[in-house]
Parts: sequence; C-alpha cells; structure tokens
Amino acid sequence: MPKRILIVGGVAGGMSAATRLRRLDEHAEIIVYERGPFVSFANCGLPYHIGGEIADRAKLIVQTPERLREVFNLDIRANTEVLSVQPRQKTVTTAAGTEHYDELILATGTTAVMPDVPGIGLPGQFTLRTIPDLDAILAWIEAKNAKSALVLGGGYIGLEAAEQLHRRGLKVALVEKNPQVLTALDPEMAAHVLGELKKQGVAVRLSDPVVSLDDSGATLRSGERIPADIVIIGIGVKPNTALATAAGLDIGVSGGILVNAQLRTSDPHIWAVGDAIEVTHGATFTPAAIALAGPANRQGRIVADNICGLNSQYQGTLGTAIVRVFDVVAACTGANESLLKKQGIVYEAIHLHPNSHAGYYPGAKSLALKILFAPENGRLLGAQAVGEDGVDKRIDVFATALFAGMTIDDLAELELAYAPPFGSAKDPVNLAGMAAQNLLSGLVRVAQWHEVPKLVEAGALVVDVRETAEREGGLIPGSVNIPLGELRSRLGELPKDREILAHCASGQRSYNACRVLMQHGFRCWNLTGSYKTWKAAQGVSE
Ligand SMILES: Cc1cc2nc3c(=O)[nH]c(=O)nc-3n(C[C@H](O)[C@H](O)[C@H](O)COP(=O)(O)OP(=O)(O)OC[C@H]3O[C@@H](n4cnc5c(N)ncnc54)[C@H](O)[C@@H]3O)c2cc1C
Repeated sequence: MPKRILIVGGVAGGMSAATRLRRLDEHAEIIVYERGPFVSFANCGLPYHIGGEIADRAKLIVQTPERLREVFNLDIRANTEVLSVQPRQKTVTTAAGTEHYDELILATGTTAVMPDVPGIGLPGQFTLRTIPDLDAILAWIEAKNAKSALVLGGGYIGLEAAEQLHRRGLKVALVEKNPQVLTALDPEMAAHVLGELKKQGVAVRLSDPVVSLDDSGATLRSGERIPADIVIIGIGVKPNTALATAAGLDIGVSGGILVNAQLRTSDPHIWAVGDAIEVTHGATFTPAAIALAGPANRQGRIVADNICGLNSQYQGTLGTAIVRVFDVVAACTGANESLLKKQGIVYEAIHLHPNSHAGYYPGAKSLALKILFAPENGRLLGAQAVGEDGVDKRIDVFATALFAGMTIDDLAELELAYAPPFGSAKDPVNLAGMAAQNLLSGLVRVAQWHEVPKLVEAGALVVDVRETAEREGGLIPGSVNIPLGELRSRLGELPKDREILAHCASGQRSYNACRVLMQHGFRCWNLTGSYKTWKAAQGVSE
C-alpha cells in the first residue's frame, strides 16, 4: 500500500519535505495543507518588493500549486487550515472533513508576537509575513499616500522593512524596546548598525517601547509621540504549536515542539520541522527556538529521509544569520555573549577591524569582527561581523568552522582563497584565530571596551599608540599618546608600577606595543578592537 503522508504548512519546511518525499517515494500520496492562499513563496524576499528592489511580485511566488502538482504530483490544498490532529486515530480535521494519515509532518512555522497596547488592531497596522500582508501594506501606502512609517522592532524583519520603506521614500522611525537593535549581535557590534540607520535618516528610539497606538501613530513610554501613516509590527515571533499542544505532543522548554534528532515528535507517526520546533543550539548544545529559513529547509529534507527509511539526523542550529541595512551588512553565527552568560559558559572575546581585502587594492573596507571561544580548549563558540564588504564570506567560514567544532588554532591555519581584490594573505578569519592564540598562549592580556572605566579607576594608564594626527578624529579621555614608532625611545615616560592599557585604532599596533612593553617589564593590557570598538560602544550599556 502506498504511504499517505500529510503535511501541515506549505512554505519552507513543509514544501522542502514534500518535494524530497516525492523524489524518494514515487508512489506515496502526499497532501500539503496551507491555510494561506500561497505555498512555496519567498517570505525572505517580501521586504524587497516594498522598496522595489524585487520589482516583480510574481518572482516571490516560487512555485504554484499547479506546477507542484505537475512536477511533483503533490496534492496541494491551499486556503485550508488544519483545525486539529487526532494522533490515536491518525487523522487530521479541516473544515472539509477528516483525513487519515500514515505519517504527519507539522511545519506550522511561527506566530507573530503583537504588542499588548491600547490601539492594537486599528487599520494601518501590518505584520510582514505573507504575500497578502505585502499586498495590504502596498495598497495602504498607495491609498493613503503614506509619507511616514513607524516600524516596531529592530530585529531582522524590522530592519529590512525600515530600509525598504525608506527606499520607497517614506520617512521612517524605528522603535525598539531593548537598548540595542539586532539583539542577535552583542551591543557594541549592533551599534554599527544603529550608526548606519541614523546616518541614513531613520529615527531610532531605543529602550522606549510603544505604550499606545492610534490612527495617526504611536506614543512611547517616554511620552514621545511618533506620527506615522503606516505601522509595521516586527517585534518577534513564537513557535506555532497550537495544533501540537492540542494533540498532546510534548513541547520543549524553549516553547517549540519537542523532536528527536530524526525530527520525530513524542508521537511515533508525527514529525515536525522548521520554526515550530525546538532545536539544539549548535554552539551551546542547549535547547533553543531559532526561526531561520536554512534550518527549516534542511529539516524538511531530513524528515523526508527518515519517513522513507534513510536514517538522517539533524545536528543542531547555529543561528547563522545576515542582514543588510543600507550600506552595512551585519551577520552572526553561534552564541553571542548574552547566550553564553545565560548558559554559564566560560568564554573569551576578541575584536578586530581588518580590511575586507588587501588595503593597497582599491575599495577595501574596514570590517568589525568579533569571535568568542572557550579558554580551556580554544573551541570557537560564536562569531559576529559588521561592515560594508566581505561580511558574508567571513561569517560563512566561521559558521563552517563552528559546525566542524574547530578551534582558534584551526582558524589561524585555514587556507583561504587569496588575491588582493578578495582578501589578504592573512585573511580576517586567520587573523581572528591568531589574535585569539596570542591571548590563550599568554602573549598578551586583553581588555574589553566595557572594562576601560574599571581599569582606569584602578589606576591604569591609557596609552594611545596611534599617530598623533589620528587623535584629531577622537580619543579616549585621559589617554596619553606615544606613537608606536616612538615607543622604544620613550619607555622612560611610562610607569612600571601601574597597569598600562594600550590601544590604537583596531588593536593591531597596540598588540605590538604590548609585546614591546611586556618584554621591558611593564604590566600591559591590549584594548581589544581598540578605539574603533570603544567608539562604537559609546552610549551602549554592557
Ligand atoms: C519577511 C520575512 C523575511 C525573512 N527573511 C529571512 C532571511 O533573510 N533569512 C532567513 O534565514 N530567514 C528569513 N525569514 C524566516 C524564514 O522565512 C522562516 O524561518 C522560514 O520560512 C520557516 O519555515 P517554516 O516552514 O518553519 O515556516 P513558514 O515558512 O512560516 O511556513 C509555515 C506555514 O504553515 C502554515 N500553517 C500554520 N498552521 C497551519 C494550519 N493549522 N493549517 C494549515 N497551514 C498552517 C502557515 O500559514 C505558514 O504558511 C524571514 C521571514 C519573513 C516573514
């Protein structure tokens, strides 16, 4: 008898499972239920149609039900919500009746979190999650001749929406209840994104949530009024577990559907994939709910393999993500500091500001890089990168290294493609590994941007080893200036009875300075990321 496989949710995870199932089993009956009108649409591309970067809306519809029927012999039931699952009977119920399954896959995604404030639900407020959402946003902008927009939430979708509404010519304000945008990154890294938003004229309000909405904008906790012709809500998502919970399936501590490595739920004939499930974090090995397209697609394939008897295991989610915000790209993989602290994992952190490619070749841009690693064995725990060029390739190398369980020694040794237009003979990834090696091998002690006040209070002298002219662009208050080239001849000016906190622009020259000073008997710290990180972090609370 051919297997009868039902799938709830017809986008990333669900459709990936459906097509893989068909490739593995030509005879199975595969029915996909999708409560919305579209299946297999490019939700990740939605923001780019608002600003016209993806000019043709039809490009967002990756596959039609007709095409999926023709090519994959899938029975697509769009506009059909699965209302309940009866695990004992192995049936699901829709408004049209009850259907039996041999195997059931839940790929129900997430539900948008809505702010619990007066005025929520008034016309002119939208989420951006589906093609109907997109159509409604564009129709409202046209009908109301909207000139101003308020974006609630500074996560990936909020940032992309802000960028694209700005590109469309609207005056944009972005409100975030946290003290930083992009909480996937640590605050001093996300500060570069904040700088870019401000530079481009987006009015950003941090630590000041909306307390009420009305038909002409919003009021913030501070009392500030933000007028807006349209409001986009992107304050977060939570796993959509309603069906699973009602069916009595186990739910994990992160709120996602609990699955094993084969992506089987607590019921032997029900499987689950995508944003709706709890995953194991690939860097901390702790339970996590992570909503990303790549994991959902890969999980869809794995679940199909397991249903068809190929033993396939999901190995965890690193949370590798990237976002473009105007001219700046920000990306991360693995754990950030707040996750490591929450999990009680001991770590070291270093910052670098290498060029995206050889500095002598035109167009090189400074990258802000941060890696986190375990001091006891050097295992990489996480990486973050922000810059105008070369962010994507570095974060993908770090993601690969994390997946492979590599250490900072491995990063230092990686042989990466190099010619001047693309990188440097020591790629930024190599440099990150080398800087971490210097720390772990005791060649240098590093101080973080947020430790400067504490060290100064304890009597440390801040020594700026940049060229004197560089200080015209800004300096750390109280610092003395001894350019690196003059350091050996001016050692007598420095105290041996005080800690010295050396810095330059990026931390490279001050590392050299530390090596000189330490070998002359000075007690020295290198300010990791140096002036660039310290400057970016001003106004950021640790
Ligand atoms: C605007 C936007 C931009 C994004 N950009 C990126 C990006 O750049 N990179 C990235 O990695 N991720 C991005 N994502 C996230 C990514 O789209 C999701 O992680 C991915 O789609 C998750 O796949 P999924 O199959 O778990 O859920 P979804 O793709 O959300 O699909 C779940 C589907 O299940 C349906 N459903 C739920 N319950 C039922 C029911 N009871 N009956 C029938 N149907 C049901 C829903 O209607 C929905 O269509 C973005 C998301 C959005 C909204």
